[in-house]
Amino acid sequence: MPASASDLYSGLIRLHVLHHAAEGELFGFWMIQELRRHGYEISPGTLYPMLHGMERRGWLTSREQIKKGRSRRVYTITPTGRKALSDAKDKVRELFSELFTDVPRRTRTRRPSMGAQQGPRK
Ligand SMILES: [Zn+2]
Repeated sequence: MPASASDLYSGLIRLHVLHHAAEGELFGFWMIQELRRHGYEISPGTLYPMLHGMERRGWLTSREQIKKGRSRRVYTITPTGRKALSDAKDKVRELFSELFTDVPRRTRTRRPSMGAQQGPRK
């Protein structure tokens, strides 16, 4: 992913992580595959620091899980993360309606029709 595009998408990726962390525990490799399914190519070198950063911000909490003799870090959402996710969802809904709605919402600022236009009187 070019640097400029990853700038644009990093917030979306964080929201995606929060969304899944709200549904249950997740681990890095699963999240990488999930993001790939959604069309984001993200390397472990990008995702893991992002997960650590989100934990530092208090949005995620993690624990060591031993599975089949191998240990891995699993993440889940915190109450602070839930609040951040819910606030962000309101913002995404708002942005979504602007990006994808063809119907103008501010009908009062609609251009007047030609006939109603007030031109300088002669
Ligand atoms: Zn997903």
